[in-house]
Amino acid sequence: MNNIDFIVLSPGINLNNALLKSKLIKNKKKIITDLDLFYLFNPEAKTIGITGTNGKSTTCKIIHHILKKNGYQVKLGGNIGKPILDILCNSNTIVIIEMSSFQLAYSKFIKPNFGVLLNLSIDHLDWHRNFSDYKNSKFKIFFNQGKFDKAYISSQALIKFFKNEKFHSKLIKVPKKISPNSNKFNEYLNFKPNLQNLNFAYRISRDIGVNHASILKSLRDFKGLKHRYEIFLRKKNISFINDSKATSFKSSEYSLEANKNIYWILGGLPKKGDKIRLTKFQRNINRCYIIGKKTAFFVNQLRNKIKYTVSNNLKSAVINLFKDLKFENGRAVVLFSPASASYDQFKNFEQRGDIFKKLVKLYAK
Ligand code: ADP
Repeated sequence: MNNIDFIVLSPGINLNNALLKSKLIKNKKKIITDLDLFYLFNPEAKTIGITGTNGKSTTCKIIHHILKKNGYQVKLGGNIGKPILDILCNSNTIVIIEMSSFQLAYSKFIKPNFGVLLNLSIDHLDWHRNFSDYKNSKFKIFFNQGKFDKAYISSQALIKFFKNEKFHSKLIKVPKKISPNSNKFNEYLNFKPNLQNLNFAYRISRDIGVNHASILKSLRDFKGLKHRYEIFLRKKNISFINDSKATSFKSSEYSLEANKNIYWILGGLPKKGDKIRLTKFQRNINRCYIIGKKTAFFVNQLRNKIKYTVSNNLKSAVINLFKDLKFENGRAVVLFSPASASYDQFKNFEQRGDIFKKLVKLYAK
């Protein structure tokens, strides 16, 4: 590998399990990613880079929506939208890039004008060696930023870490308090985790030059993303929510907190180190339906706390659920928020969510 300048690593490849592991590790300094290539070939592009454990796609979409509605030439790339190297841009284009910790881990040249770290919680520990490794890779979003670039952070602990690392960019502390009325006209944005995403989107849009009233106006018709707290059916007193994107317990917590009398379908491949902490939500849950191949993990965590049915697969969960709903007279919420990854029984979370919606529509007839 002596005569190779750079090795472009696909984000899905974990160096520690790769076929060429020893060669790659020896040449780690040469490893870069598709994001690096984008920055090297488009030095004039104005970019907003977004990372964090949860809410990346949603925040990208909200910013994209606001800027587009207000006449900016704006594109979405990275984990959301087009693959980053398919994006053509000129100096007027604003490119919003969703950056995963995998991509950031090996990137060396990324330099967003606006860098966002939404939040950080235990996730992807199967890929990263430990939490500190995961945290360091997320903070790489700010690594090459210069003094005219901005770094957006909200959590106190993350702000402290940022300050200790002595990055060059200007720190923008995003307040936890929601900007007046910006969430009022949209049920989706009023959902608690989206308030955090909205706060970041609001602040960046203001810094780019969109005024308060125009932001509010453009948010009115913002439609959420599929599979993320997607309220796709209301029948009698029952709302059906597809939150298939929730692949860790942390991302299911908000839906459990926001609703009452929940019939909760969960299960799949739990994230390493994940724990279901129910104390706060227990009273909101009526019954659980456990799907997936790791039933024992979920049964162990729910036993003696909540009534549950082991349904193994999604179809029998939906059938069991509709049998129970026959006895439901009050308002209720059917929540598909699996708190785990989908790969044991589905191709991905999108397929999992689509199958759920199809089954519900079938049995709700
Ligand atoms: P990501 O792209 O980071 O995976 P998404 O925007 O696709 O995040 O949302 C994934 C799930 O995470 C959603 O279903 C939602 O329940 C939860 N979520 C969204 N935003 C946040 C947030 N700011 N904090 C915590 N959880 C969130």
